[in-house]
Formats: sequence, structure tokens, C-alpha cells
Amino acid sequence: MSMPGLYVHIPFCLRKCHYCDFVSYPNMENSIDEYIDALLTEAKLNDAFFSSRRIDTVFIGGGTPSLLSPSQIERLVCGLQSLPNFNPTEFTIESNPETITDTKLAAYANAGINRLSIGLQCHDNDILRAIGRGHTYQNFLTAYKLAANHFDNINVDTIFGLPNQTLESFRETLRQLIELSPTHISSYSLKLEQGTNLYSSFYGIDDETDREMYHTAIEMLSDTGYFHYETSNFSQQGFECKHNMKYWTGEEYLGLGVAAHSYYDGNTRTNNTDNLMQYIQMLSNGEKPTVNTITLSNADMLEDYIMLHLRLVEGIVFDDFYNKFNTSFQNEYADAITFAKDAGLITITDSSVHPTIKGFDLQNTLISEFMKKM
Ligand code: SF4
Repeated sequence: MSMPGLYVHIPFCLRKCHYCDFVSYPNMENSIDEYIDALLTEAKLNDAFFSSRRIDTVFIGGGTPSLLSPSQIERLVCGLQSLPNFNPTEFTIESNPETITDTKLAAYANAGINRLSIGLQCHDNDILRAIGRGHTYQNFLTAYKLAANHFDNINVDTIFGLPNQTLESFRETLRQLIELSPTHISSYSLKLEQGTNLYSSFYGIDDETDREMYHTAIEMLSDTGYFHYETSNFSQQGFECKHNMKYWTGEEYLGLGVAAHSYYDGNTRTNNTDNLMQYIQMLSNGEKPTVNTITLSNADMLEDYIMLHLRLVEGIVFDDFYNKFNTSFQNEYADAITFAKDAGLITITDSSVHPTIKGFDLQNTLISEFMKKM
């Protein structure tokens, strides 16, 4: 029986952060109850998926899932628990510091949630305000300390390349976090997305500083016992995010909720409508909210496999590639391997190729070299 991941999208937020282009709706808390009804209806409509698989990981993401009240979370999780073969080993919920309370944390833990992800982004209150976040660093510290009473697996999200953020300021964010010692830290370079408030007022930092910040994260976190296992993700031993690993290694997952994506049956990708009211309406009519279904060709699957595996420190393992595509990676991609090795973008061992730090820096170049053959 395969062991997929389940993603549940909660699209509600208190406000829209200035850099955010996720599907998230501010000031729509009145719709949360009917949205939970819709999520649970969507889960039931996927009964065939759940009956033939055992859900291994769950990730309630957003948006701001910690906006939900304890009773709303209990109702949602209780509905999920009634699905066939629902027995996750890792069960994460995302949260924002200003919405965390001790009562909510206790409700998460009682409901079987065993991993908390907190969006810090940085420790500087002026920068947090400038990017439209609703919390201060003090809010984060209070939330983190409360969370540590309920969870022994906590992720903290950080972003570098923010407006007015210096290298020293980013170092200080990392120093403070290392002192708290969460089991997992994500550190993403800010992406300026068209249509966001920040896009029109900030041009981004220069590439050199951006890369210095990235290298700083790798050095400081590696030096303090964090394993750099994916481009932007670091964990203490044994605390890699199992759910996200399913995305990066091409395992199945089902997404519930507005704008959620799914991947299953080896070659099928689907996505749901990204319109909240349409999503609720379709489910109240008993219809699945899927608006796109794509059957992947072998070339699509090869492309996805290479793109995703080159984000991982373990890279492309030859035996795994052979088992999946029945052909030798070394033979198929001999020219790209030679180019990438000579350019210092990958290291080759007897069993795998994996990106070097330069390969992570120039990830697009690295991936496009392998895509040339497609
Ligand atoms: S809290 Fe997250 S999802 Fe919500 S607006 Fe801010 S960045 Fe976007």
C-alpha cells in the first residue's frame, strides 16, 4: 500500500503581507466554518484515494491555519481522522506568531498534530513592519516558548533579501534562532512577485549580497549541527520534513482546499479552483473542485524528477533513477554531467550526482543543462 502525503490548504489571513502572492484571503474569517464543511466534503469525494492508500504525512498550510479557533481545528482534524487508513507519522500545522495561543497549541497537540511550523521571517521589527507582517519578534519569542511546551518538532521559516536587511541583520536572525534550537529551519531568498505591494516599491537586493546571505545560512546552520538537506531547508538529525520530501522525491500526495494540487497514479497531476467562493459552491453541489487534470508524459516525469532531485543535497541516485525510468542516468545525460562537473556545479560519486554549493547558487543553469536533452 503506498503511503502518500495529504495537504490541506487554509486560505485565510488577517492581512495580506506585502510580498505575498499565495492564494490567501484577508478579512474572510466569516467563511471559515463553511470552508471546513467544503474541505470535509472534498475529502469524502476522494474516498477511493484514501481506501487504497495509507496517509503517512499531513500538512495543514496556508494562508494562516492558526487563525482557526480550537474548535474549528478539532472539527477539521476529527473529520480527517474518520478517513480510511488515516494514521500519519508526521502531522504539521503552519502558524503565524500573532495568532498562536496556548489554548490553540494544546488543541493541536490533543488532535494528534505533532509538528508546528512558525513564520518568523526575520528578527528585526522595522523590517517585519515594512513587509506587512502582523507580528513583532517579541510575539514570535512568546509563541515559540509556548509552542516548545507542546511540541518537540518545530520549524521556523526565515526569509533573506528583505528591504533594508543587511548581512549582519540576517546573521543576527540566525544567531537568535540557533540559540532557540528548533528542529528545523527554512531559509528562502525573497522572490519579488508581480502584483504584490513590494514589487512596485522594492527592486530587491543585489545578487552578490543575496548569495552571501545564502552562504551565511549554510555555514552558520551547518556549523551548529543542522543538516542542509534541500536548497532552502535545514534540519537537526532525523527531523527533515517528511511531507515536503514527498514532493521533492516524486511520491504521491493529495491536496484538499482552494488552489490545492495533487499528484497520484504515477502520472496524474490535478489542481483545484483558486476561487474561494467557487470552491465552496462546487462542494456544496457535491462536485469535485478540480479544474485541471494533466496526464504527464514520460518526458514530463523525467523533467520533474531531475528538477526536484537537483534541489536535494542527496541529488540523483543512479539506482533510483534506473528503477524509475529503466535507463541509465549516466548514459542518458553524459554530456550534461560532464558540463556540470567541469563547471563545478555537481559532485559525482559511484552511486549519485549531487549539487555543490555553486550548483545550488546556479540552480537554474544546472537544471537547464539537463533539460537541453529533453
Ligand atoms: S501570512 Fe503568509 S499566506 Fe498570509 S498573507 Fe502573509 S505571507 Fe501570505
